[in-house]
Amino acid sequence: MALKKNVTFNGILLYRRNYRENDMLVKFFTREYGTKMFLIRRGRKPGFKMSGDILPFTYGQYEGSISDDGLSYIKEPIETHHYLNISNDIILNAYAMYLMNLIDAGLSEGEASPRWFNQLFYALKLIDQEIDPAIITNIMEIQLLTLFGVQPWLKDCVVCHRDDLPLDYSTNYGGLLCEQHWHLDPLRFNLDQRTVFYFRQFSVINLKTLNSVNVQRPTKVRLRTLLDSIYSDTVGLHLKSKRFLDEMTQI
Ligand SMILES: [Zn+2]
Repeated sequence: MALKKNVTFNGILLYRRNYRENDMLVKFFTREYGTKMFLIRRGRKPGFKMSGDILPFTYGQYEGSISDDGLSYIKEPIETHHYLNISNDIILNAYAMYLMNLIDAGLSEGEASPRWFNQLFYALKLIDQEIDPAIITNIMEIQLLTLFGVQPWLKDCVVCHRDDLPLDYSTNYGGLLCEQHWHLDPLRFNLDQRTVFYFRQFSVINLKTLNSVNVQRPTKVRLRTLLDSIYSDTVGLHLKSKRFLDEMTQI
């Protein structure tokens, strides 16, 4: 079991769980080494010196030992921050947990992926700034599809490549169909053009430069339904945190 000692890494805390009597297991998504499980010895003891650096919804820079295939260790935090609004708001909390679970489900442990690290970092930052979390979540869900081997064709009609006619999404064709080809799939979604517009926009939007969103409620409901069926029918993913999010947002 190879252990890289005294390395510096940037991490977003994904989740933590109690381990043995006094210890804790903490999973981080690190920019440098992908997702890694860390053993925090005595992490549950009162007065543990790193308590504030391993709270839920923490991100920062740490020094520690990274294991190739076993548990990793934190030696000391260098600089840590908290997503404060997410910590204090149960709805934002539910959105953030779902996105972190989604990333965790899509990546293999130890698969370095700075691109997805940055995506998650900016998504959580925007949610923490209370930019519409439902939309930030939709954007992540659409872009994360590639992690699950699903790449819907959203550029133009998947059959004739026209993009000047009304378009609709077809699961069977794995992309958009123009009006002339709607007859090919009776089970297509029957989306309105506004929903199609956002669906296409969200697939290419850069979260790093996004600073506001304004999508009307009926469109948000349609986007939610569309993504739910893609995730359930095409990806086949049913996360507990998603069910929780659905319950929280239905109230
Ligand atoms: Zn066509």
